[in-house]
Amino acid sequence: MSRFLNSRLESLEAYVPGEQPADREYIKLNANESPYPPSPGVVRAVSGCAGRMNLYPDAACRGLKAALAARYNLLPENVMVTAGSDDILNFCFMGFCGRGVAYPAVSYGFYEVFADLHGVERSVIPMGPGLTIEPGRWENLGRTVVIANPNAQTGIALPLADVERIVASNASDLVVVDEAYVDFGAESAAALLGEYENLLVVRTFSKSRSLAGARLGFALGGAELIADLERLKYSTNPYSVSMASLAAGEAALAEDGYYMEKCAVIAAEREKLKSVLGKMGFVSTPSMANFLLSRPPEGLRAEEIFLALRERGILVRYFGGGSLAEYLRISVGSPEQNGALLEALGTVMRGEKV
Ligand code: PMP
Repeated sequence: MSRFLNSRLESLEAYVPGEQPADREYIKLNANESPYPPSPGVVRAVSGCAGRMNLYPDAACRGLKAALAARYNLLPENVMVTAGSDDILNFCFMGFCGRGVAYPAVSYGFYEVFADLHGVERSVIPMGPGLTIEPGRWENLGRTVVIANPNAQTGIALPLADVERIVASNASDLVVVDEAYVDFGAESAAALLGEYENLLVVRTFSKSRSLAGARLGFALGGAELIADLERLKYSTNPYSVSMASLAAGEAALAEDGYYMEKCAVIAAEREKLKSVLGKMGFVSTPSMANFLLSRPPEGLRAEEIFLALRERGILVRYFGGGSLAEYLRISVGSPEQNGALLEALGTVMRGEKV
């Protein structure tokens, strides 16, 4: 640490993203990316705009906002576009957590980092049995509420009625529902937007629309809330969403059928993978996302399996210590990738050498 860093940030622990090693080719099942490439129209749109990159992009993101508004039956003033949904979450912690924030004990690791970055008082709500979010613990919290639905790391989804209970009972505070994984089978809280002005739905193009590399996120909410978020964006980096990402997002929405079909394939693969892992003795949470959180059978340690798979060219996510020390998070890949994972896992469990 340099002696120049603001002392308030001395103990800040940065978020650790899933590794992207370059030492060899890996089957990447560690960052919940899509195994499928962007649709052909996206590739065309991105190369088509390359010749105009001497100019700044449209800071107001008008084309993409209009396309998102049409897709979700809202108005453009109900839509915010940013460089990844991490950016929106950052703005939420930066600007809307004056009375502190509540988030689940097991969830997206960035919530704690953003809280610390912005000096927000955190209230970490314990999980119920089976690593669930229990709505009863989430009523009238008197502070901003952030939940992920489906939840990060577990993939478990709350039914819409439970999300509504949380939003309704915290009417004086903002409730942020992070729906990074919603397209793989959960119910979106976007349906509640007309009724609750304290609701913000945060979404991303990174998972269900195969655009993790483009860094594109969006939020859906009331017009005043969105205008506040825009004010924070324009006070940080108005041009944060590149011309290529805007073009990619618009083209992806024009071919949304392609992505929604792939989501259905991934959801079906998730169930198959879970069933085969179950036969091998792994216990997985009932995930509605594009990943499984799985505990290996007795006698096998999650960390050992993680390392042995890595040696075999397959990356999954191991979180180190804490409440997830016994688990592996495995992103659902293509049928071929999942097959390779299961085959490699078989060799690890039989104690075979690489
Ligand atoms: N929310 C959750 C729950 C996530 O798992 C992720 C991805 N790691 C994000 C938000 C951020 O996604 P992005 O910034 O790529 O849109």
